[in-house]
Amino acid sequence: TLMSSTDRLNEDVDIHNASLQSAKQELELMEPDNSIVRLQSELVTNITRVVESNRRLENDLVVSRFKLENQAQELDRTRKEARTDALCNVGNRKAVDENLQFMVSRYHSEQQASFGLMLIDIDHFKRINDTFGHQAGDEVLTSIAVALKECVRPEDFVGRLGGDEFCILLDGLTSADAELVGARIRSTVELYDFSINDSGQSTVVTMSMGLAVMRPEDDAVAIYERADQALYKSKQLGRNRLYTISSEHDEGLTSTNSEPVFDESLGRSYEDFKASLTSDD
Ligand code: GH3
Ligand code: MG
Repeated sequence: TLMSSTDRLNEDVDIHNASLQSAKQELELMEPDNSIVRLQSELVTNITRVVESNRRLENDLVVSRFKLENQAQELDRTRKEARTDALCNVGNRKAVDENLQFMVSRYHSEQQASFGLMLIDIDHFKRINDTFGHQAGDEVLTSIAVALKECVRPEDFVGRLGGDEFCILLDGLTSADAELVGARIRSTVELYDFSINDSGQSTVVTMSMGLAVMRPEDDAVAIYERADQALYKSKQLGRNRLYTISSEHDEGLTSTNSEPVFDESLGRSYEDFKASLTSDD
């Protein structure tokens, strides 16, 4: 708004300047009559001053507009930064809360806008840190964020709640397709093969997931609690699985793949694991 007012003011100043200039020219061309000669020269001097000060104002307005534009961009950057997880470059807790709240409000105002909330927690992440070091742990977290973003659609939201906990907001997810979509995400993430190898020792990074689908009586707290219960259930049932609570009478559905492979011949080096995330194939 400020920028468009500045533009309008700039245009006005321009128009006024043009009419003042032409008035000045007319005055200068008038036949000098003794009675008006003093008034004429005073008017010309004053108009010249106004025109000059208008020109300065015009320049100031151009500079102000430039500054305003920069500040608007800076504000936008700061706003994004305040909602981004610095390590994993996905939404942070604040962004998760805001997005969840937005989707809950939209759900209650538009009937069809169903959605799902998936909570994801890395299994035995502490062990990864303890075995390979905090730096390697950080890299696993970053890679998992990349993997999660790649296996959802652009309209879905990926965030890191902190530590080794992530979440996905699945736009348009209904109880009818929850199991299928959840299982697809789970198997896609699994294809990433987050293997780490250190002096002959190998492990596989697995995740436990809990999925809840929005219900008419839900608010943000309720759906979050249900997704959290589903995640808890995944951990309880032995980790490395997805537990889905989709409809009201649902006892929950478990989708699990084979147990993590600890076979050394199948394990890949930590460097391979990192390279696999950036290679084209
Ligand atoms: P569980 O299967 O029950 O989830 O076991 P876990 O070891 O993953 O669970 P726990 O909550 O005990 O461990 C999470 C670990 O994550 C502990 C903490 O040191 C580590 N952690 C938290 N934030 C970061 C981080 O930013 N970077 C790294 N490298 N580690 C982190
Ligand atoms: Mg964990």
